[in-house]
Amino acid sequence: KSGFVSIVGRPNVGKSTLMNNVVGEKIAIMSDKPQTTRNTIQAVHTDEECQVVFLDTPGIHKPKNKLGEFMVKSATDAFKNVDVVLYVVDESKKIGPGDRMIIEDLRSIKTPVILVINKMDQIEEQDLFDLMKMYHAEGVFKEIVPISALKGRNVKQLLKVIQNYL
Ligand code: GDP
Ligand code: MG
Repeated sequence: KSGFVSIVGRPNVGKSTLMNNVVGEKIAIMSDKPQTTRNTIQAVHTDEECQVVFLDTPGIHKPKNKLGEFMVKSATDAFKNVDVVLYVVDESKKIGPGDRMIIEDLRSIKTPVILVINKMDQIEEQDLFDLMKMYHAEGVFKEIVPISALKGRNVKQLLKVIQNYL
């Protein structure tokens, strides 16, 4: 199997860390400074079962200037012309305006969307359960997969889930 997977979400949720973990190399710059990823970066994951091109996108946010506009545009372009969209969130317990905007965009596309709850290494079990319930209620996501991109927890499982949509 093969296909294209884009990684989208608000700045700083761990998109680049996930991409680097999946391909096992430091391709995208990871940083706690938002907007470190300015362009969409591609990397290929290959194993016995599949070949997947991952697209790491700039975080989606309200653009404040021309560079911001360009970054948001390349992120939203990543919703289309791919086989799967990974929508990455972190431990935040509320769906803020930034996330609301993205979720409504995702609702309108035909591409299957997998919700990735990242940073599970710093989420209590009960909070994780509540988060999954909250996002499930949106009715937008085909699957909800908690991971820790930094620790590499559940990332293999995520790859398996992705394969079902290629
Ligand atoms: P991006 O803006 O979405 O690409 O986010 P980055 O990948 O650059 O990561 C932003 C910050 O979150 C960095 O300081 C990462 O080390 C941290 N981070 C990413 N994944 C995890 C995770 O699974 N657990 C924890 N605790 N921190 C993480
Ligand atoms: Mg990034």
